[in-house]
Amino acid sequence: PPPLEKYEYQAEVSRLMDLIVNSLYSNKEVFLRELISNASDALDKLRYLGVTEPELLKDAVDLDIRIQTDKDNGIITITDSGIGMTQQDLVDCLGTIAQSGTAKFLKAMKDSKDAGGDSNLIGQFGVGFYSAFLVSDRVVVETKSPKSDKQYVWEGEANASSYTIREETNPEKLLPRGTRLTLYLKHDDKGFAHPERIQKLVKNYSQFVSFPIYTWQEKGYTKEVEVDEDPAETNKDKQDETAEKKKKTKTVVERYWDWELTNETQPIWLRNPKEVTTEEYNEFYKKTFNEYLDPLASSHFTTEGEVEFRSILYVPAVAPMGKDDLINPKTKNIRLYVKRVFISDDFDGELFPRYLSFVKGVVDSNDLPLNVSREILQESRIVRIMRKRLVRKAFDMILGISMSENRADYEKFWENFGKYLKMGCIDDRENHKPLAPLLRFFSSQSEDEMISLDEYVENMKPEQKDIYFIAADSVASARNTPFLEKLLEKDLEVLYLVDPIDEIAVQNLKSYKEKNFVDISKEDLDLGEKNEEKEKVMKEEFGQTCDWIKKRLGDKVASVQISNRLSSSPCVLVSAKFGWSANMERLMKAQTV
Ligand code: ADP
Ligand code: MG
Repeated sequence: PPPLEKYEYQAEVSRLMDLIVNSLYSNKEVFLRELISNASDALDKLRYLGVTEPELLKDAVDLDIRIQTDKDNGIITITDSGIGMTQQDLVDCLGTIAQSGTAKFLKAMKDSKDAGGDSNLIGQFGVGFYSAFLVSDRVVVETKSPKSDKQYVWEGEANASSYTIREETNPEKLLPRGTRLTLYLKHDDKGFAHPERIQKLVKNYSQFVSFPIYTWQEKGYTKEVEVDEDPAETNKDKQDETAEKKKKTKTVVERYWDWELTNETQPIWLRNPKEVTTEEYNEFYKKTFNEYLDPLASSHFTTEGEVEFRSILYVPAVAPMGKDDLINPKTKNIRLYVKRVFISDDFDGELFPRYLSFVKGVVDSNDLPLNVSREILQESRIVRIMRKRLVRKAFDMILGISMSENRADYEKFWENFGKYLKMGCIDDRENHKPLAPLLRFFSSQSEDEMISLDEYVENMKPEQKDIYFIAADSVASARNTPFLEKLLEKDLEVLYLVDPIDEIAVQNLKSYKEKNFVDISKEDLDLGEKNEEKEKVMKEEFGQTCDWIKKRLGDKVASVQISNRLSSSPCVLVSAKFGWSANMERLMKAQTV
């Protein structure tokens, strides 16, 4: 046999490996994602190089990834038919931690003049391979590069400071091309060596890798087999001796093992939106987010330029069940993929504002590292840009529902998610512009159907400068307030803010289309009808009465004034310009008691 050559790692690998195993990955099941990513990268590289060097592809094996498990011995093998590694590659790539062959390859591709193909290489970090040791005691890598006529075997153990490389001489073990990883699982991790377990992980993390992933799976089919009846039994109460000998059939299950396709090779978001049907979007939504109702709307888009990503966003048909989760929304609404590999859905508002947590979707970026963490997201300029675009698209999508022919669609939306948008008015000043047109309110002229601010503005009187509102606890009590009298008489429309959060939202907005929101219950309401002459007369006539009332009421009121805002009621209680409205006071009281 050829000599076994021994190499030293080029860094304090055993310690680094420990670091990786224990801190870089919080969840050990990601080993499969990393190894599949490497296999996918290797296939991508082969496909890319094959364009200019077709002889690399001469061993006509399909480009795919195959995973086989041996549960009795706790072994997983992952085989790809990709670019493989030469002996030198093995030393460079698997012998030097944080030395990413993929990054090198990308650089070479950039440097080469005729590079042009878009590449979806996942790697670039140079540690993914070692995640195999999260679950393995020993890892064997058999690999055959189409550039070399020899096959090599790399072997390493967890926490060891050296590894071995030898040439493969057993003809039965030769691969046509590519790499086979064999993981000898740690005692406690042998549970990974089950086809079902692997399939679940593939579906969760690598569902949309663009090469087929097969798992070796036991299958069964049923077949009918004829069985002769027991003659003793047949003859027991036989009456017709001449009857043909009866045949009985029995159903048996034939078992066999075969490869089963485990992923979908073309993620829906990579397809051309023009070629995807609504049914397909809806199916994807229901499958991905475990929903049973079709979404109310969806939006599929690609952004280019500074940051490149693809995304599909959805507005669900109904709000999530259970207790109001506005304050503490479940933010697992956006699934982030990097180069088609699922990264996480737990970014708690980094990628998407919390108040939009009802919007669900997938985002796939080529510009983020595969090991992106929440900390990285928080600081990333790329993420800030992504977030901005996603939010804009979400508003566009909601605006689309509001412009639907069918008014009921938006009513349904508003009923389910209106309070989230009002929350946005408070939370997100930067987005007041797209938020405000989406709001809906009851008004003095439309008590059954809610109106938009645009509808209000359109209905304004030519001399009217402000948007009037009154906050109350119901439409009925808003309608009965004496503050309305003068405005109704002048045919001015007044918004009824009947949801406790309405008033705070409107106060945050301050104005819409340069028209201020004005609370008609505040003391300085100016309806633009100052008549100084008349006011003087009134003051002379009723000044003493006011003083007298103030004296009687004492500290219960701040002041008593003559008003021109009433037409039939004798008096009205108003709140001070800078004080809380009566509604707010009610709310505050409710909170403190
Ligand atoms: P990264 O994928 O970030 O480059 P890894 O530690 O995952 O880092 O892998 C290191 C290198 O090993 C890869 O860049 C690649 O060159 C090589 N490699 C790993 N797995 C394979 C494989 N299945 N086929 C070919 N090369 C591989
Ligand atoms: Mg990798």
